[in-house]
This record gives sequence, C-alpha cells and structure tokens, in this order.
Amino acid sequence: MAMLKVENLSIKYGSIEAVKNVSFEVNEGEVVTLIGANGAGKTSILRTISGLVRPTEGTISYLGNEIHKTPARKIVAEGLAQVPEGRHVFAGLTVMENLEMGAFLHTNKEENAALLKKVFQRFPRLEERKNQDAATLSEQQMLAMGRALMSRPKLLLLDEPSMGLAPIFIQEIFDIIEDIKAQGTTVLLIEQNANKALSIADRGYVLETGKVVLSGTGEELLASDEVRKAYLGG
Ligand code: ATP
Repeated sequence: MAMLKVENLSIKYGSIEAVKNVSFEVNEGEVVTLIGANGAGKTSILRTISGLVRPTEGTISYLGNEIHKTPARKIVAEGLAQVPEGRHVFAGLTVMENLEMGAFLHTNKEENAALLKKVFQRFPRLEERKNQDAATLSEQQMLAMGRALMSRPKLLLLDEPSMGLAPIFIQEIFDIIEDIKAQGTTVLLIEQNANKALSIADRGYVLETGKVVLSGTGEELLASDEVRKAYLGG
C-alpha cells in the first residue's frame, strides 16, 4: 500500500489554476521527487498535503486515511513533517530552542535527548552553535531540517532544501537526505536542482504548469531526452 496517495488533485487560488488533476504516490521507504520550473505547482502540492491549503478537487490519503480535510496540526501528529522553502526558523529563539520546538508533541525526555544527539551527529554545526540566536545562523536550512527530524517524521516533505545554498552545502544536503532515507524515513522532495534530486530519488514526477507530464525512476528520468533538454541543460 502507498504511504501517501495523491489522486486527481486540483488547486485553485481564485481564478488561477495552480495544480490540475495531479496524481502520484509515495511508498514507504522511498525518496520521491517532484521536479519542475518555478511556478509549476510544486509548493502548492506540498502545502496541500500538510493541510495548509485545501484542494479544490481530488483526494490525499496518508497511511490509509484521507487527510485533505484534516487540520494541519493533526497531520503533523501523524508523523508528516514539512520543511518549508527558504529560511523558516524561529528568530529570537536559540538553535537549541528551535530544535526543542520540533519535538513539542513528544514528552518522553530520554527519547528526545537521544534524538537530539542523532540530529547533532548529522549536523555538527548546529551543536557548535546551539546557544546562538537562530536568526543569525548561516545554516538555517540545516536547522529547519533538524527541527523537522525532532518531530519523528514517518514522511518528510522537503521544499527546495538546496535553494540558495553554496555548492559545498548543496552536496551535504543531498548526502543528508540519503542518510535520512537509510534510517527509514520516507521522503517527498521538491527541487529545482533536477540533476541532484533525480540522482538520489527512487522515483520522480515532472510537473509543468500544474500537470504531471512525465514520471519514472530517478534513473529513467535522468536519461530521458525531455528532462535533459528542459531541466539538465543538455
Ligand atoms: P516555486 O518554485 O516558485 O515555489 P512552485 O512550482 O512551487 O514554484 P507554486 O508556488 O505552487 O509553484 O505556484 C504555482 C502557481 O500558483 C503559480 O502560478 C503561483 O503564482 C500561484 N500561486 C501560488 N501561491 C499562490 C497564492 N497564495 N495566491 C495566488 N496564487 C498563488
């Protein structure tokens, strides 16, 4: 059974049809990527899955239950965490406090401490800067991922994690996503960096102006002429 199943999803903002009849699924243990140009509808789809935007049509099922009418806080409690695009950390709180916020639904202190240790192993710079105000941190994308991991996600939604990062950090982010998968968390990844995303993805879907135009394994899509021309500059 698919862990996440999106069927015939349409999203409108007033008269703007941002997503048109999109269907895809994510199986447990997979990294699945949605790639596409700016404005193709990727963020709208993620925000709809996490309950922040309501679809105009279609259904979303997660772990066998329909969630497209469920409040966002309940969806998070079921282990679906989103890392939004850009640098959404809580300014005025330290790095440590931001991480603690990620675990707010979980009261077992020992489990939280063990998880924090793991997050610090993955992101050593966060530990070095744990008492710093998050707003002054240059690795805010890492902190946003660390905070999401503190919520013990079964399914992690990542919105353009590599955006705005220097090349050396971009590679690191993709290594970390592979590591998150190896630890058993399922990942839905949105990216404009199609090359890197398809290299680590089990499967991918290509979106153009709100529609799925192509799908396949990461390898198949990397080799496809259409994808190479449109997204890989070749
Ligand atoms: P990006 O990479 O820029 O985030 P995207 O593929 O994630 O692009 P969306 O952000 O989902 O695409 O946007 C899809 C379309 O919906 C675009 O035409 C965008 O202008 C429009 N749109 C997105 N959010 C809103 C909103 N809140 N109100 C009106 N239109 C919106």
